[in-house]
Amino acid sequence: MTNCIFCKIARGEIPSQIVYEDASVVAFKDLSPQAPVHVLIVPKKHIQSVAHFQAEDKELAAHIFVDVVPKLAAQLGVTDGGFRVVLNTGDDGGQTVHHLHVHLLGGRKMTWPPG
Ligand code: 5GP
Ligand code: ZN
Repeated sequence: MTNCIFCKIARGEIPSQIVYEDASVVAFKDLSPQAPVHVLIVPKKHIQSVAHFQAEDKELAAHIFVDVVPKLAAQLGVTDGGFRVVLNTGDDGGQTVHHLHVHLLGGRKMTWPPG
C-alpha cells in the first residue's frame, strides 16, 4: 500500500533498525520502545490486522509464529527470561498503525492486565 508507514519500512523507503528480514517478513526496533527489547515483526504484504487475515495467509501466519518469533526471541536473548507477544487489533485494541505487526517485548518483568 502506497501510503502505509510499515509498507515503506518493508520496502526500505523509511529507515529503521532492522533486526531480521526474509522473503516475507521484516522485523525492526520499535521507535518508542516500551521494554529493553521491543521489536515489531511485520509481514511485507500489507494486511491490515489479524482480523483481515485471508485463507491464503495461513503459511505466512505460521511462519511468523512458528519460525520468526522463537528465532528472534533467541536472537534477542529473551527466550529464557520470557517475553510478551502482542497483537493490538483495531481501535479498542489500541492499534495505531494499520498494517499488521507483532510486538515482541522482553528484558523486563511484564505486568497484567495491560492498560
Ligand atoms: P500499535 O499501537 O499500532 O500496536 O503499534 C504501533 C507501533 O509502531 C508503536 O509501538 C510505535 O512506537 C511504532 N512506530 C510507529 N511509527 C514507527 C516508525 O516510523 N518506525 C518504527 N520503528 N516504529 C514505529
Ligand atoms: Zn502496509
